[in-house]
Order: sequence, then C-alpha cells, then structure tokens
Amino acid sequence: MAETFDLAVLGGGCAGLSLAMDLAAHGARCPRTLVVESRAEYTNDRTWCYWTDSATAPPYPIVHRWQTMRVAHAGHSVSLDCASTPYQMLAAQDFYAAARASIDRRPEITLQRGTTVVAEPFRSNGLWLIPTSHGTVAARSVVDTRPPQGSRRGAATLWQSFSGQEIECSAAIFDPLSMDLMNFLAPDPRHVAFVYVLPVTPTRALIEVTVFGAAPLTPRELVDRLAAAVAERVGDAAFTTLRREHGVLPMGLSENLKPALERFVRAGVMAGGARPSTGFAFQRIQRWARECAQSLVSNGRPIGHKPDPLPLRVMDRILLEVLRADPKRGGALFFSLFNRAEPSRVIRFLSGDAGVVDSLAVIAAMPVSPFVRAALALTLRQSRISESKGIA
Ligand SMILES: Cc1cc2nc3c(=O)[nH]c(=O)nc-3n(C[C@H](O)[C@H](O)[C@H](O)COP(=O)(O)OP(=O)(O)OC[C@H]3O[C@@H](n4cnc5c(N)ncnc54)[C@H](O)[C@@H]3O)c2cc1C
Repeated sequence: MAETFDLAVLGGGCAGLSLAMDLAAHGARCPRTLVVESRAEYTNDRTWCYWTDSATAPPYPIVHRWQTMRVAHAGHSVSLDCASTPYQMLAAQDFYAAARASIDRRPEITLQRGTTVVAEPFRSNGLWLIPTSHGTVAARSVVDTRPPQGSRRGAATLWQSFSGQEIECSAAIFDPLSMDLMNFLAPDPRHVAFVYVLPVTPTRALIEVTVFGAAPLTPRELVDRLAAAVAERVGDAAFTTLRREHGVLPMGLSENLKPALERFVRAGVMAGGARPSTGFAFQRIQRWARECAQSLVSNGRPIGHKPDPLPLRVMDRILLEVLRADPKRGGALFFSLFNRAEPSRVIRFLSGDAGVVDSLAVIAAMPVSPFVRAALALTLRQSRISESKGIA
C-alpha cells in the first residue's frame, strides 16, 4: 500500500466533488484526501436547478434564471413570482470543471478517475481499507457517496423517476422568462405524473416527465410520455435533441441506511441528501459539504447529512403517505399548495428550509381530509409496529 490518506471520498459526483471543493477552500489546512471515481471522463450528464436568494456568486456559471414559475392542473394554472429567490440552472459540465480546477490547485487532494470501489471498505489496525480496481486504498476516514445498489438501496415510501430531453426548435415557441415547474398529467391511480419545462431561449428548452410512484422507472418506461410531452410543446415545429437525462431519486428513505461506524459516513442523494418529499438535493448537498469540510478540518471527523427539523419530517411523512395512498389526488394537492400558500413559504418547503410557521402554512394550504386520513394511517401503522416490537 503506497500511502495512507486522511480521508477517502468514494464517488466523485455532486456530493464527492462538492466536499472536495469545500476542503480545497480551507487551503493548506485541508486533510490529505483521495476522491475515488469510477468514471474516466465527466460529461454534461445533468442540469441542477435550485432556488436561491444568495447574492454570492457560485464558483460555476449559471446557465439561466427564472423569476416566474407556473403550476398547472386539470385546466387551471397559477403563475408564481419567485423574483426574490430566482430558480437557477447550472450545467453539470460547468460544475465538474469548477470542481476539478479547485482540486488541481491543492496538492493535498487527488481525484482518481477511472477507479471503481470493488468491495466494501473494512477496518484494519485503526484504518479503513478500501478495495478498488487499482489496488487497496488506506484512509483514516471515509465519506461514501456511492449510490447503494440492489438490496443495499433500502426502501423508500415513493420513487421519483424522470426523463428529460433538451431540444433546439426551428421556431421561437418558448418563453424563457417563465418555467413550468409542474404541469400535471391526467390523474392516475398508480402514480403522480407531471411535465417540467425549462426554457432557456425562445427556441431551446429542457422538457422532462416526472413520475412519483411505488417503484423506480427506467428511461424506456418513460419514453412514450416524454415523446408526448415534447410533441405537445413543439407542435409542428422541427427540432433537434441536444441531450437527454434520466434520474431516479428516493422519496422518504428508510432510516436503516445509516449504520454508525467509526470515522465512516454515507452521504449524497441515497443517504439523506435529497429532500424526501420533492427530491431537491443540490443545495442540501452544498450545505452538507461545507459543514463536513469544516468538521474534517477542525477535528478530522466526517459528518453525514443532518436530519430535517421535526415539523418538516412530520410534514414530509404525511405528504408522502397521502401521495402513496391516493396518487390520483397528487396534482390537486400540489396545485392547492401553490395556489393558496405564499410562494416564498412553498419554496422554502420544497428546498428544505421551512421553519415551523412555513410548515403550518403549507398544511393550511392543502385539503384537510386526506391529510387527516394519512396522519391517522401513519399513527396506526406506528402503533402496530410498536405493538409487534412489544413497546408499551
Ligand atoms: C438527471 C438528474 C437531474 C437532477 N436534477 C436536479 C436538480 O435540478 N436539482 C436538485 O436539487 N437535484 C437534482 N438531481 C438530484 C441530485 O442533485 C443529483 O442526483 C446529484 O448528482 C446527487 O449527488 P450524489 O453525489 O449523491 O450522486 P452522483 O452525483 O450520482 O455521484 C455518485 C458518484 O459515485 C460514482 N460511483 C458509483 N459507484 C462507484 C464505485 N463503486 N466506485 C467509485 N465511484 C462510484 C459515480 O460514478 C458518481 O460519480 C438530479 C439528479 C439527476 C440524476
């Protein structure tokens, strides 16, 4: 074994590279770090969007900002002003380039691409040993951002699956000032489905179909719905496809994915990095990366994602239970939320920054009866679990 690192980061995607960038910002104080990434090359494989009111420029270019967003359901639509917290888009290729540039400036940090972790890390003589396709790596601490596969993936209340197509049209058909956050498809007893449209110029947009359902869906399973959504938007205009993207995110992960291990934490979208009821993850990951880097620099210990405050966790569980139990209602529920609640509160709820007052305002904006039913169902299920475990 050549070298012992202070820290091994397994996976150099959004979470792994964000942590590396935040460590690099500490200069010579940052721990000796190895980021192990299976990809040999980074491509423009996704866009990240999020709301922000921060005046500080991020270390990567912002592709576009929207100050108005629309939500539509059953022939009704509502336009919401988000000028004070614009919704902004960044391209993955710009994020990866910025991360690699900041890693390259720090001799303490190495990004090893084209290297796959091939077996689970194990403890030996106070170190973590990580078997990789290029030999065993030794490190005092590990941050594991690899998305768990198969049975290690754990259970989620729902899965969010989405497929998108970025197109360039022959005609000016889009309004780049406004984006469609959720344009709900016809109610379906199996899942909640909506179209998301992000126009960046009058001729160019990312069009995405998203489904909240009991099981993850493949791109093939979403292909017809995506084609229909694109056809509906472009009409007779000719278009070329610039890029495609697909993703699956857990909504309401079970807690058993976080075993407490000495100097070993899991992070990223499958380990608490995604907002349970919406899937927004980018900003949560940025916040976690700053805190984890600070902890590593101060005391050498990595930290995982912090749980949301209790009111938000309760809200999420109830909302997910409503969507799971009666997906047909999904469109009406979200529409009611956007139509009745203050946009800034809804944005904080969607992003995970909601306080108690925001959570109460969100509850007040939704129809009462399905929420009461879901809360009762959850309480009943919880008491059955407690009974079966013999808890009084
Ligand atoms: C297409 C798409 C669009 C999204 N858009 C948004 C958005 O607009 N806003 C938002 O907030 N969130 C969005 N998300 C959700 C979330 O922000 C992203 O999924 C984000 O990339 C999650 O970061 P991560 O580090 O957890 O996972 P990833 O970025 O997927 O990184 C995991 C890394 O681990 C590597 N890896 C896996 N296995 C191994 C192994 N065995 N050895 C070594 N390396 C390994 C992978 O190659 C990958 O680079 C989107 C997700 C997708 C898929």
